[in-house]
Amino acid sequence: MRRKLVAGNWKMNGTLKANEELVAGLSAELPAGSNVDVAVFPPAIYLSQVIHALSDSHINVGAQNVCEQAGSGAFTGEVSAEMLADIGCRLVIVGHSERRAAYGDTNALVAEKVGAVLDAGLVPVLCVGETDAEREAGQAFAVIAEQLMPVLKSLSVENLRQLIIAYEPVWAIGTGKTASPAQAQEVHGFIRATVAKADEQAAQEMRLLYGGSVKAANAAELFAQPDIDGGLIGGASLDAQEFSAICRAA
Ligand code: PGA
Repeated sequence: MRRKLVAGNWKMNGTLKANEELVAGLSAELPAGSNVDVAVFPPAIYLSQVIHALSDSHINVGAQNVCEQAGSGAFTGEVSAEMLADIGCRLVIVGHSERRAAYGDTNALVAEKVGAVLDAGLVPVLCVGETDAEREAGQAFAVIAEQLMPVLKSLSVENLRQLIIAYEPVWAIGTGKTASPAQAQEVHGFIRATVAKADEQAAQEMRLLYGGSVKAANAAELFAQPDIDGGLIGGASLDAQEFSAICRAA
């Protein structure tokens, strides 16, 4: 059985004070011993703060982005996967649609970033998903297959088994429009089948998260789908009560 994972993508939100309060709220609301894995993804500048604050907690901390270059070097403004590992990060979101749309994260670059994350011993959360126009044009599966292919082709079977994939339809992110459980399940089934072509065991073990306007009110129904193994939560992850309720729904 795949363990559920609920991941909170804070995006470019937070202050030292707000983070302290959010983390205190999560620690109080989410005692250890539940059967769901929980992770939060603060902005890079606050990673150390949150890792320190959660050092005694079962809640994992991850980064929202990473440089495709390994180690260190002349890459101004960038943060490497090794640096993230060094400060205690466990996971890294790669290929979020906001980065694909605004910061040049192409499918090929995303595959390089996934490789860098794995080489540093961290777990990549690879985001894929179609836009509204692509869905309307009947292109959703083709777009997602194209996003997956460079990653699937570049990974060893051993590395593939570390991967987590998040399906985030672009039209559902921050819009209040959620994919219906049936729509989400259909794509999750497609993603699992696509991974199975590379490795059947990896496909069966891989956690596939749904993201896009997940709230406490719709989480349980989404998480009950056979191929949905948790969620990647944006807006609702900034509220300790709401995020905790989503974790409890998993
Ligand atoms: P949302 O964002 O929950 O605010 O729609 C999800 C995401 O972008 O990861």
